[in-house]
Amino acid sequence: MTRESHPTYLLDRTRLHDSHTLDVHRKNDGYRALETILKEGHSPEQVIDLIKNSGLRGRGGAGFPTGLKWSFMPDANKDRRARYLVVNADESEPGTCKDRVLMEEDPHGLIEGILIGCYAMRIRAAYIYVRGEYRFAYDRVAAAIEEARRANLLGKNILGSTFSCEIWMHKGAGAYICGEETGLMESLEGKRGHPRPKPPFPAGFGLWGQPTTVNNVETLFNVPFILDRGAEWYQSMGTENSPGNILIAISGHVERPGVFEVPLGISAREVLEDCAGGVWKGRRLKAWIPGGSSTGFLPASEIGLAMDHESLKNARSMLGTGAMIILDETACTVRSMEILSRFYEHESCGQCSQCREGTQWLTQILHRIENGQGRMEDLDLLSSLASGMAPGKTICALADAAAIPTHSLVRHFRDELEEHVRRGCCPVPSSPGPAAAPPRSPSVEVKA
Ligand code: SF4
Repeated sequence: MTRESHPTYLLDRTRLHDSHTLDVHRKNDGYRALETILKEGHSPEQVIDLIKNSGLRGRGGAGFPTGLKWSFMPDANKDRRARYLVVNADESEPGTCKDRVLMEEDPHGLIEGILIGCYAMRIRAAYIYVRGEYRFAYDRVAAAIEEARRANLLGKNILGSTFSCEIWMHKGAGAYICGEETGLMESLEGKRGHPRPKPPFPAGFGLWGQPTTVNNVETLFNVPFILDRGAEWYQSMGTENSPGNILIAISGHVERPGVFEVPLGISAREVLEDCAGGVWKGRRLKAWIPGGSSTGFLPASEIGLAMDHESLKNARSMLGTGAMIILDETACTVRSMEILSRFYEHESCGQCSQCREGTQWLTQILHRIENGQGRMEDLDLLSSLASGMAPGKTICALADAAAIPTHSLVRHFRDELEEHVRRGCCPVPSSPGPAAAPPRSPSVEVKA
């Protein structure tokens, strides 16, 4: 879905009949940017400079500048090793489902973005790592790759040029941690998806030890539009430091959950009210998560915040993947955090004790507070545990993903935590009791 009052481009083609086919894609300017680069002989450096000038930032969560990331790849004239582009399509952050729409409805847009990225970084092979549950998206992209190959848009001497490139696909097996770039590469290599310590960074030592860039689907999807329409056009949308449009997946207690294209910097209130039709059944907003489950809870009073990297960082949160989750007055934030914590406990790969043990302890403490056995000291214990887990104390950011929402719960919803302890039960009537979710690790008991 798109909002008519702002210029859109990411989802425009998805509204067309048979938007996933090469025929429809090419009739609507598809592959025009790639064709221009190859026919007019733009150099790889020119392409990277244009992406740098546009200010495009990654849409996979961290918001790192894409052109800068591409420029980290070693000079191909001096480093003769094979090099790879890996597309992170393992979209498994709770609340996030925007890449799926692009892959299902406009897979050629992704392929063109990959090819331009490969051209810019002098790469001849790309891998798309797709979340295993996304079978339809996988099939759509696989069919589009075949179509592109038949049309000489992929393979040897693309469109008669000297540029050759192949794209391979890989299905994940359902591990959240394979969405972390180094865990993903381990998995692609056929090993357990355990994240690697960094450094070395992927640009120097990535897939099979070769120079590698990992980009998100939506990030690459932006690339052909920037090449086709220019950096100035791109900067005319969004904010100075967060230009362009972004896909927001909004879910939870809203009238119209879905994926919406909006300019970066739009207020969260506008997304909630104008795009998603407001809080479900006209109820009162209690809490919201701005960018996927790892970005933390914010109170209703902060719904006027701008959806861009800087504004959310100043509010001690993050834009993340732009997956807004809305909780109305009938939700219990303690119960919600317990569910998130249980998820991270389940998905921890176990390499780091702070994460392996910390996520279990968080779940246990939250479970006992939610079920009326909590103590007032537990509130500070939650904060202390979360501080012991993050930031930057583990191999990857999964520990941070559990710690950040825990901190935000104690910071913004301390009253609700205290009420659980005082009453000896969950004060929110609709919140399910312990029977709905028994503890996974009953042997672990944390004492203050
Ligand atoms: Fe594994 Fe957690 Fe350490 Fe990441 S932080 S490497 S998921 S144990």
